[in-house]
Amino acid sequence: MDSQTRLSYLESMSAISPSLPEFRNEPLADFSAPANRHSMQAALDKVRAEFGREYDLLVDGERIKTTEKLRSLNPSHPTEVVGIHQKATPELASRAVESAYNYFADWSATSAANRIAKLLAAARLLREHKFEFDAWLVYEAGKTWPEAEADVSEAIDFCEYYAREMARLSDPRPVVQMPGERDEMRYLPLGVGIVSPPWNFPLAILVGMTVASLVTGNTVVIKPSSETPTVAAKFAELLLEAGFPDRSFCFLPGSGSAIGDLLVQHPKTRYIAFTGSRDVGLRINELAAKTQLGQRWIKRVIAEMGGKDAIIVDSDADLDKAAEGVVASAFGYQGQKCSACSRAIVDERVYDAFLDQVKQRTEALTVGPAEDPANYMGPVISDSARRTILQYIDIGSKEGKPVAGGAPAPGDGYFIQPTVIADIASNARIFQEEIFGPVLAVTKAKDFQHALALANDSQYGLTGALYSNTPEHIREAREKFFVGNLYLNRKCTGAMVGAHPFGGFNMSGTDSKAGGPDYLLLFLQAKSIAERVA
Ligand code: NAP
Repeated sequence: MDSQTRLSYLESMSAISPSLPEFRNEPLADFSAPANRHSMQAALDKVRAEFGREYDLLVDGERIKTTEKLRSLNPSHPTEVVGIHQKATPELASRAVESAYNYFADWSATSAANRIAKLLAAARLLREHKFEFDAWLVYEAGKTWPEAEADVSEAIDFCEYYAREMARLSDPRPVVQMPGERDEMRYLPLGVGIVSPPWNFPLAILVGMTVASLVTGNTVVIKPSSETPTVAAKFAELLLEAGFPDRSFCFLPGSGSAIGDLLVQHPKTRYIAFTGSRDVGLRINELAAKTQLGQRWIKRVIAEMGGKDAIIVDSDADLDKAAEGVVASAFGYQGQKCSACSRAIVDERVYDAFLDQVKQRTEALTVGPAEDPANYMGPVISDSARRTILQYIDIGSKEGKPVAGGAPAPGDGYFIQPTVIADIASNARIFQEEIFGPVLAVTKAKDFQHALALANDSQYGLTGALYSNTPEHIREAREKFFVGNLYLNRKCTGAMVGAHPFGGFNMSGTDSKAGGPDYLLLFLQAKSIAERVA
């Protein structure tokens, strides 16, 4: 960039930065308002009328059909096919990386202002079609209305927040000026990224990793989860409508086991942005570390993985609030959040009273089809997830004392009763292993110190919470509760973009802090330039 170009570039940026109002989280629609209920019902009807439609994959700007198909089902009514998708072959996966690589020079040369404008257009379109996206999440991911609304709102937040972050990072970075030199540091994109999201936030997480890649000037191959490709296909269409060129990203549904390794190992892949299970994350990390023939860089892995999140209930905690927070964290979206509370660790002085409250609250929860707003919980994502969770309930029932739930819930969908198992020891499997379903283990602690040691007795370190009225314990939790996201006297789910940068320690991942001021740097590399001027 010559000095004239750089000047006009900086001018264009300063034109954009001040015009962006301060970031604000997207307000959640209140479904008790009749107008919102009506709009949501209309969106559900509209989306239902599109069930069974076939979607193409997009590689090198070309819409392609393959012979093998992927069918996504409605977990509330699994005979219903939500969408039919192409299953990418290894050849197509390879072509996708090549095409993203070939377009990288063009896309990375666009101005940040241009990319930011497109991202803001994407946010606007998401907002315009919010209830429709909500409805896709209800039908394809089994999210209840409020859970779907939170997912779409978070997706909008990621777009708005990263647009502002890119504007900030496009400004010249302050560096010390050496005498006789003009010194600067600027950020450059990396290259081709593979975006591999999970099904449990099929919009927000996919959007977050994709737009962070694109706004920083990288090109991407989006490999959506095989459970939720329709929501992803809808977002791919929206990216095109927002003005992102059809070669700046590839949309590549297909089985992770068939094409995942190839995408990760491809020598032209520069980085992998993954969110999902520990085992897949570790495999990606291992494969990415092995240099391939023709590879010219060390691949970067941004991996956010599982959790076994604990809430500590202290002897002087407000038990009503603690029980409310634990139940919401354990059973919101059927416990299928990486941040879900799967361990309640309770001071023995309040253990029985707390357990009683949790039991009552849990037994009052309604379970059934996600499209019916009367249900607090919908289905789990798939038949195989349901089988695994029920196996864990069997194991847990032998390891401790079942207190609530413990069985499938009625209906043709993948429903499971919210389940509480008490008196769980720290070496029990349901204390240590991520179940990813509506199962809460409750454990007795001698005192706060013991509770903290139990909470930290985990290979994971994603979220955690403490309910306490003892300032000393709150202070100690700040220092010693070893989690990426700590919450004090509130539930451990529901991180907000901007306020709670999200990412975990240990086997929970690389602590990328999505939705925070450090995140976009993971998609960039810094170049330092020193020019002698005297
Ligand atoms: P998963 O089975 O690990 O899959 C995640 C993604 O990876 C999917 O798109 C999957 O594709 C793909 N994949 C599978 N094998 C691959 C490979 N060899 N190479 C590249 N990609 C591959 O996880 P999940 O069941 O979808 O999601 C649940 C997990 O995600 C839980 O452990 C949860 O805690 C974690 N999670 C973590 C966070 C966080 O921020 N820490 C947030 C949400 C969820 P297919 O679907 O085709 O297999």
